Amino acid sequence: MKKWLLILFIGFFAVSGQAKTAKNLIWVIGDGMGPSAMGFFMEAVRNSSNPAYPDKQSNLEKFINASEVGLYFNNTHVSVVTDSAGSATQMATGQYSIPDYIGQDYSGLDVKNIMEEAQERGMSVGVISDAYVTDATPAAFLAHARGRGQKYNIARQMIASGADVILGGGLKYFTQGENKKLLKEAKKQGYTVVTDKKQLAKAKGKKLLGLFADEAMPFYIEKDLNPTVPTLKDMTQAALRILSQNEKGFILMVEAGKIDWALHENDGGSSFYEMVTLDETLPVLTSFADKNEDTLIYLNADHETGVPAFAYRHLDSKQVRHKNAQGEMLYGGNTDYVDYKEFDKLLKQNRVLYYVNEDFKKLPQEKRTPETMQAMMDKALGYHIDFSSLPNPTDYQQIKQHINDVKGLSWNTGNHTSGMLIGVADGGYDGFTGVYHNTQLKDKLTQALGWNENLPEDED
Ligand SMILES: [Zn+2]
Repeated sequence: MKKWLLILFIGFFAVSGQAKTAKNLIWVIGDGMGPSAMGFFMEAVRNSSNPAYPDKQSNLEKFINASEVGLYFNNTHVSVVTDSAGSATQMATGQYSIPDYIGQDYSGLDVKNIMEEAQERGMSVGVISDAYVTDATPAAFLAHARGRGQKYNIARQMIASGADVILGGGLKYFTQGENKKLLKEAKKQGYTVVTDKKQLAKAKGKKLLGLFADEAMPFYIEKDLNPTVPTLKDMTQAALRILSQNEKGFILMVEAGKIDWALHENDGGSSFYEMVTLDETLPVLTSFADKNEDTLIYLNADHETGVPAFAYRHLDSKQVRHKNAQGEMLYGGNTDYVDYKEFDKLLKQNRVLYYVNEDFKKLPQEKRTPETMQAMMDKALGYHIDFSSLPNPTDYQQIKQHINDVKGLSWNTGNHTSGMLIGVADGGYDGFTGVYHNTQLKDKLTQALGWNENLPEDED
């Protein structure tokens, strides 16, 4: 009797789970966006006076609050830690792969990805990256190659794939060397080709290829220096306009690709603003999903990078900023617990610190003085952090370390980690809570799309 009830119970949930299926899938991938990068960003919005967030709540936080959250791992067949190629391949194909492989399983065989299966079903597909479109993540959704470095080969495969939307940086791989005629070929295949923000806003037609930089697109923090280049939000708006013409639905992969780059650099302000570019794209997606209710938005990361978080440290008593109401030092006496003001300071940054150093290196030797470096960094940070105590006050690595030390901003690494990741699915679709592995994602998403090819056996 009890067993009979259990079967009925499971059966009820199986049926109610199948009742809701999505027509469209929008898959948002924050490259390198581990839990700490998400937390660092949401915490900064909550505790700073950024005019873009009058209610002090990020769109990411709102999105998570309205969604189902799961945790997952991303280890590959041969390694604990992965790169974007191995991870994106595992996500797009559902098969274990290895770092550096694009769209191939660990034995080196090409495996069908979710985009190819969608096309077989008559759906439209598209990829967007604000790094470059031949980079590992978008490549794993549209191509197959033994190494992520085969960017010219990947570019040719992307056009041959017939994907309806391809937007990002990487123009060079479509116009140079062996691919000199690739844009001509793309136009012949029906692509509207655009290369700046204005053209993108006006673009019509069934197929859209937009390439907005020779290599990677600019960092969001420097967007005012690049006014003709679209943002991730601009590209997403255009992609939805093109893809939503297909009545059979679409899959769009949107990569916020330079979160990873900023985290690799351990650059706090740039990391914050790369999260902003993803965050300002989310309302475009959620309002599309509000109007088109059969749209599933899934947001996750390929791997974790950097691991930013504020950490307390021990300073001399003059520098310690926190005392209790009686003016006494807090626990430990010389422990500085980091002030909330650091969030507003973080937001003042207006350039990628690495590029400031690159500009410095281009100056004539007589101008490469500690004073010049100090002035350039002050301007980029939007406030003064003194470098005069450093052994070499023009050395970028020392400066960067010092800036993070003064902020109290800690980083675990300049690389990727194996850390557990967060996956967020909106809209009440089943199967996205709990702990899983990124090779299971394709099945979860295709089940939500009602493809039902891999329904689990009834365990009873
Ligand atoms: Zn990376």
